[in-house]
Amino acid sequence: MIHNRIIYKLFTSILIVSFFLGCAARDLSYRRRGKGVYHTVKKGQTVWRIAKTYGIDIRPLMRINRLSDPKDLKVGQRLFIPDAKRVLGVKVYIPPDKKRWTAINEEQRSYRAKDVLFKWPVKGKVTSLFGFQSRRKHDGIDIAAPGGTPIKTAADGKVIFSGWGPTGYGRMVIVKHTRNFVTVYAHNRKNLVYKNQHVKSGQKIAEVGASGRTTGPHLHFEIRLKRISVDPMRHLPIL
Ligand SMILES: [Zn+2]
Repeated sequence: MIHNRIIYKLFTSILIVSFFLGCAARDLSYRRRGKGVYHTVKKGQTVWRIAKTYGIDIRPLMRINRLSDPKDLKVGQRLFIPDAKRVLGVKVYIPPDKKRWTAINEEQRSYRAKDVLFKWPVKGKVTSLFGFQSRRKHDGIDIAAPGGTPIKTAADGKVIFSGWGPTGYGRMVIVKHTRNFVTVYAHNRKNLVYKNQHVKSGQKIAEVGASGRTTGPHLHFEIRLKRISVDPMRHLPIL
């Protein structure tokens, strides 16, 4: 019995070590072969946006460039983009100004009066609200639910993203709706839809999980209007 256990442990450690060696070797061979380009980071460009522009996954990009935190990215830094054939222009993130904010708030209010567009994506306890929560701005609400609980799209729309999201979001789905509304579903265990897929309100699109930066399984849900996150509680039916 004891013997078996030792062999098993040895076997799993060999497996883990060879996996990491395999990754390292592949990263090295990418650089050696020079299959790819060097992208010089400009102001406002994030790892996520760079990865998205070149159509690659954020994790190998970070690993190849030995970035442990996306925030470590510096202006002027050269990132190796595997398999890219030429350097591409990466759109930068421009924070909205106050004037635009106010205009959008007005617009949001006028929409709300007309119709309630959205349904609850998950039935569960809201554990964190929108806005400043302990000094940090929270762009959505958190709904606690056991891992594997179905996540349903809040309204009819089209999937514009399904994959690994930016810092901390984990596995994420983004759905675009009418009138410039977008909903975001993050920390998923599993995504069940693909980009450009049309989805009906209430359709199962993912499963609740704890991927990304979380302390436990929950859905991080955002509603964005013209790319700015708004308070989802104002758009969801009162429970
Ligand atoms: Zn959250």
